[in-house]
Amino acid sequence: MPRRKQIYEGKAKILYEGPEPGTLVQYFKDDATAFNAKKRGTITGKGVLNNRISEYLMTRLGEIGVPTHFMRRLNMREQLVREVEIIPLEVVVRNVAAGSIAERLGIEEGTALPRSIVEYYYKNDKLGDPMVAEEHITAFGWATPQDLDEIMALALRINDFLSGLFLGVGIRLVDFKIEFGKLWNDNNDVRIVLADEITPDCCRLWDWKTNEKMDKDRFRRDLGKVAEAYQEVAKRLGIMPEAVDAVPGDMKGPELMQ
Ligand code: C5P
Repeated sequence: MPRRKQIYEGKAKILYEGPEPGTLVQYFKDDATAFNAKKRGTITGKGVLNNRISEYLMTRLGEIGVPTHFMRRLNMREQLVREVEIIPLEVVVRNVAAGSIAERLGIEEGTALPRSIVEYYYKNDKLGDPMVAEEHITAFGWATPQDLDEIMALALRINDFLSGLFLGVGIRLVDFKIEFGKLWNDNNDVRIVLADEITPDCCRLWDWKTNEKMDKDRFRRDLGKVAEAYQEVAKRLGIMPEAVDAVPGDMKGPELMQ
């Protein structure tokens, strides 16, 4: 069989040409990087867990009408997605102060924010993904004011839904990063859709009772038990096959916390 064409290799994923035009195969690696790739490592099994977690969250979001690039999971590490033109922004939504906002504004980590805050960062590894304002985004043409209105509305809706979903399984959604892409239909109409991934690599997830970190901060801050934390997220969402011989699709519902 001819080797399929690699379109792009990122820090945690590889994109291959898909089986039909307008599709891509998204492959989840076990590689982990932090601090703009200054820290590197491997988290065994992370790719498999992230593939499942992103599939689950994108599917649930699709069910409430959030358009996403996700089509279907293909195997343990791969999913079929629609090819989109990525908008070069990292959209961060925060509910609780942590990470860069805590440092930048001198807010104690764990402080609830007065309301959810949406921030934009320009996707550019060489520049270290600098934070930008709407002014920069529209002036440089990375997105139009209309695109930004839609992105902001989608980001807040995604935050509301995911906050509730995680709360139901005893997890606080502290913050997360998402990316959007443009998708054209046959009539040449363009739609903005959620792209990339939603996984513990790009979210901060804290256990509701103990505040224990269940996300990539365990890797960033050398807290250990990284894969175990990702596994626990998957387990609580009800997407860990219980038996070793469990078949794909053998999923329980989420484990609801009292
Ligand atoms: O580092 P900071 O506090 O700005 O990160 C906010 C959120 O965005 C965190 O959940 C982090 O995992 C995510 N993020 C990301 N990729 C980046 C920067 C941040 O997924 N390049």
